Amino acid sequence: MFKEDDLIMLSALQHYIFCERQCALIHIEQVWAENRLTAEGRIMHERVHEEGNESRGDVRIARGVPLRSLEMGIVGMADVVEFHRIDKNQWQPFPVEYKRGKPKPDHSDAIQLCAQAICLEEMLGITVPEGALFYGRTRRRFDVLFDDSLRAEVHETAKRVHELIVSGATPPPVYEKRCESCSLIGECMPKNIGKHPSVKRYLKKMIEAI
Ligand code: SF4
Repeated sequence: MFKEDDLIMLSALQHYIFCERQCALIHIEQVWAENRLTAEGRIMHERVHEEGNESRGDVRIARGVPLRSLEMGIVGMADVVEFHRIDKNQWQPFPVEYKRGKPKPDHSDAIQLCAQAICLEEMLGITVPEGALFYGRTRRRFDVLFDDSLRAEVHETAKRVHELIVSGATPPPVYEKRCESCSLIGECMPKNIGKHPSVKRYLKKMIEAI
């Protein structure tokens, strides 16, 4: 079990899957910059949270729900948690995450959503077997089943993010196609490998650790 002071942001899991260096820049070095994509995403999340809570028949909808798992050591917020009525006094939580764009080729959105479900399970003492991802560009919603393999990926990713943050070492940049959509490209300077201060810090730590 993690202590409150050791919790990492749930969003770090997605940053880590996108790029370990981006995760380290944000969560170790506290670097943040916004580009068009992150601004659009932020506005979409804010709109969702502003809508407030509501009831629709046998579904109660809570927005901006705080989340925490001491077992995984993560803290964050769910855009939406739907509570589907099972019977008179029982409600099944069903997290829904809103995404600005379209489905990605990697698992990162499903991992983020499953991490939310694991937090809800720990907080409410109930199993959360599935949730959904809604994509703004396609206006489509996809159900996601939280199977054992996805849950194992979430736990493994959380473990690696904790290790990265505890190490305090930001990996050096590697220029790839993803860099062109990264909001931190200006701070990271991936084409200038070796010239950036964080590269020097990383190499220095590596040498000291040998
Ligand atoms: S610019 Fe590229 S290497 Fe640098 S943080 Fe972004 S994705 Fe990672």
